Amino acid sequence: MKIEILEESEFKVKFILYDAPIALANSFRRAMKSLVPTMAVDYVDFYMNTSFLYDEIIAHRIGLIPIKTDLERFNLPDKCSCGGEGCPNCQVSFRLNVEGPKIVYSGDLISDDPEVKPVFDNIPIIELYEGQQLMIEAVARLGTGKEHAKFQPVSVCFYKIIPEIVIKDNCDKCGKCVEVCPRKVLKVENDKIAVENILACSMCMECVKNCEENAIEVLDTNNYLFTVEGTGALPVKTVMRKALEILKEKAEEMNSIIETLI
Ligand SMILES: [Zn+2]
Repeated sequence: MKIEILEESEFKVKFILYDAPIALANSFRRAMKSLVPTMAVDYVDFYMNTSFLYDEIIAHRIGLIPIKTDLERFNLPDKCSCGGEGCPNCQVSFRLNVEGPKIVYSGDLISDDPEVKPVFDNIPIIELYEGQQLMIEAVARLGTGKEHAKFQPVSVCFYKIIPEIVIKDNCDKCGKCVEVCPRKVLKVENDKIAVENILACSMCMECVKNCEENAIEVLDTNNYLFTVEGTGALPVKTVMRKALEILKEKAEEMNSIIETLI
């Protein structure tokens, strides 16, 4: 198994996972989405809300704001020494006290901890009109995407198989496959059909269907092209590393269970 990074920016990583069974590729995807913990608001106390929106809608909107997460500093509530009651090691409070007229943004939330704050300051929460007031306290904690989508560290996380395209000897070089390919994967080179851009192939099989000589084959491989976009709560590479650590722990746990059975 090997990982090759193709593209890397603050919020997006594209990489190839080589030589892995498909079950492992899918476990990796699922671990990134639903097992890597991040911070999100999970509890909101409303002291005053004279806005047009119900408390529940505002609480839901605040819950979905991505929050910068430091996994080294915070514990999951059920693994914290406080036993899940809430302490500085497992939760952070935010305060908000605003009066209209004003559009309230994520940046208006005042955090008790300067390191833990919304990733973006410009996410609109609500518009307050003249005379309306909102006074709340929100509590953020670690959680996983398995529990609620607001804890997912990635907004996009998918893979596709990178196929192998075989051009057989009976190819009559008619060029039909090059023409019909919607993603321009094939090309004619030195009077032969060649693969130009295998990463673009979506395995639509148009080339196979249109080849009168049956000279082209598109085969599955154990290589996958992954695209992962983060919410900003954690760097995408941290999400990848953490997901692999979690998978390893789970495999070790499984091993020890099997050993007790033998
Ligand atoms: Zn605690």
